[in-house]
Amino acid sequence: MTAPESHAPAPSRRVAVVTGASSGIGAATARALAAAGYLVVAGARRLDRITALAAEIGGIGRALDVTDPESIAAFVAGLDRVDILVNNAGGAKGLGPVAQAVEDDWRWMWETNVIGTMRMTKALLPALTASGDGLIVTVTSVAALEPYDNGAGYTAAKHAQALVHRTLRLELLGKPIRLTEVLPGMVETEFSMIRFDGDTERADAVYAGLTPLTADDVAEVIAFAASRPPHVNLDQIVIKPRDQANARRNIKTG
Ligand code: NAP
Repeated sequence: MTAPESHAPAPSRRVAVVTGASSGIGAATARALAAAGYLVVAGARRLDRITALAAEIGGIGRALDVTDPESIAAFVAGLDRVDILVNNAGGAKGLGPVAQAVEDDWRWMWETNVIGTMRMTKALLPALTASGDGLIVTVTSVAALEPYDNGAGYTAAKHAQALVHRTLRLELLGKPIRLTEVLPGMVETEFSMIRFDGDTERADAVYAGLTPLTADDVAEVIAFAASRPPHVNLDQIVIKPRDQANARRNIKTG
């Protein structure tokens, strides 16, 4: 990995920063944007995966923990040009009633999804503005649209993350920055493994008996949003499997 020096001229290729690119939707988005011609700067905590991805797509891989301001500062250092920021890092921990809420899980979800999005956006807003045609994509969820039983820790965090993004849409009006919120339904990634703390059986059961989205399905939509001309803003894109009607109902729940 070679990090551009801070005094180096801005690259002539358009640059896309993707957070949480070590797996799932983030990795697929990094691949899709690289295929669309972007120089992709990929970040996540698992540096081995990020380094391998960067080598595969001819991008730059850097360690990134969006819950750590110092890690973010090191990640963005020397990024003189940024055209796209994909706020994707995030996820869920646990599934249980508010009455039994696990505070550490709630804190993790808030720090990663909400504060992580705020911090990354704040750090890269000057570069995105300077690009003259910036785009901020935030991957929220159908959990940002409605509650579901036992999901309050995640739905609260995703609603909050979405409101950070939707507020930016108002605050940045008149600036050369588009904002796209992507709200996926069920996507088969490592999401449920993380949610259920490595319980493979429980994670697999989430997707058994229906056809979920793949990470590529979501990544293609993000790349499409990025490909629109500067005056076209895709504000919200809700993408679900045909087998899922909303956050509460799918063909298994009836
Ligand atoms: P995933 O496969 O578990 O990917 C999550 C990514 O986030 C990983 O690359 C992980 O990398 C990264 N991440 C977690 N904590 C981080 C931190 N502190 N700093 C930097 N990166 C961090 O799950 P996914 O489904 O692709 O999730 C991507 C996004 O889509 C999340 O925001 C999730 O909430 C959202 N989403 C998922 C679904 C779904 O059904 N899968 C549905 C709606 C929305 P490291 O662990 O290497 O840091």
